[in-house]
Amino acid sequence: MLTTNVQFLSAEIMDVLRLFGAEDRDFAHTFRRDGDNFINIIECGGECRTFSDIWRPRDELEFKRFAKRSAKLAFYLLLSQESGKSLPWGALTGIRPTKMAYGELAAGRDFAPLFKKFCVSGGNIDIVRRVLAAQGDIYRANCGNGEDIFVSLPFCPTKCEYCSFITAPVGAVEKYIESYINCLVEEIYSLKGIISRVNSVYVGGGTPFCLSAEQLSRVYGAINSLNIGGAEFTVEAGRPDTFTPEKLEVTFRAGVNRICVNPQTFSDKTLTAIGRKHTSEQTFRAYEMASQYPFDINIDLIAGLADENIIDFSRSLDAAITLSPSNITVHSLCLKAGSRLKESVSRLAVSDIDGMIALSREKLTASGYCPYYLYRQKYQAGAGENVGWSLPGRECVYNVDTMEEICSNIAVGAGAISKRVYGGGSRIERLASPKDIPTYLNKYKEIIEKRNELFA
Ligand code: SF4
Repeated sequence: MLTTNVQFLSAEIMDVLRLFGAEDRDFAHTFRRDGDNFINIIECGGECRTFSDIWRPRDELEFKRFAKRSAKLAFYLLLSQESGKSLPWGALTGIRPTKMAYGELAAGRDFAPLFKKFCVSGGNIDIVRRVLAAQGDIYRANCGNGEDIFVSLPFCPTKCEYCSFITAPVGAVEKYIESYINCLVEEIYSLKGIISRVNSVYVGGGTPFCLSAEQLSRVYGAINSLNIGGAEFTVEAGRPDTFTPEKLEVTFRAGVNRICVNPQTFSDKTLTAIGRKHTSEQTFRAYEMASQYPFDINIDLIAGLADENIIDFSRSLDAAITLSPSNITVHSLCLKAGSRLKESVSRLAVSDIDGMIALSREKLTASGYCPYYLYRQKYQAGAGENVGWSLPGRECVYNVDTMEEICSNIAVGAGAISKRVYGGGSRIERLASPKDIPTYLNKYKEIIEKRNELFA
């Protein structure tokens, strides 16, 4: 158990303990400040270690931020020295690396020295630098300007073993789908009065292609009534077994210019193990169908699925690269509460994941892809990250805007979270819709009113 004399440091320290699987051990922590000297004393197993470093906060807010950083760093150094293990993102937890980098650049400093202080690997400093370069044009154009629209279709054919998302297996909620679309369409119409310049629209899931072509058309029709102009329009179509020529045709005719084919792996054995009902052959067929249209296509892969080793992952990577989509997103497996796998796996092996991530960087770079957005999640295997890779000039605006939180996001549907972003991200107000479908159906009018107030 962890005890500390400064309660607001507790959650931050726990994040670091979790990285090393040390959350069940006993630590007594004391934090002291002596001028600019931040001192962390850690007692554990009869030993006492003191770590001190220099931070120069300008105000109370910055003091708290720096105190958290110094405590995390102290625990990271202790556990890293003790275990002989260093982690690729060092003591960086609970903050998006790119946001931290932008913070340093805004203060007129390079971000590398701060990252080095946090023991971030040279490879990760390099990838952040490449991400900032690749997303630079979108970032500059949209920081503090316009808004993005998210439309939630939280249905999937079945629930994947590792999924903690709110999505519902379509069979279990079939009776609600028509009502859901009616409410969703009403919500979309209600946005007319609050949008100004739409940067992008993202219809996400779940698996939006769970709906029929006719149901998708109704959702697209409502979106197009908003006069989104030439905004980027993405549909995260989803699992390959839901693709049909009719759905692709209505999607294209609605003006959608980006779609996602999300196999996660090209191994049939793994697909069965994670609870998917499709094969890699269906992925190739879905891709072939989608490539009849001039969509930018994204393929999602996950490193660390089931019992996959680096050879399995390498095969999936090669298969995706051979198809030559404009975007490939590589996720490190993340097991949050709510996923079935979380119940059976207490700790994630890290050895192969590091290799898989390194391999993805090497192969995608060699194939002409650039990393253009990056984020990390709690409980991610190997303390890794998710990276969106793009052929030059084919980056997804929505992903950059939402990951960097540089402009407002107006989100409709169950489980959607609207964010009003002020000053390019200096302040954010949020509004969450109910995740449960029946509750959403009862409350959507209330949500419309609250959203109108938030964006008034
Ligand atoms: S397809 Fe995606 S959203 Fe749907 S159950 Fe699987 S992981 Fe979850």
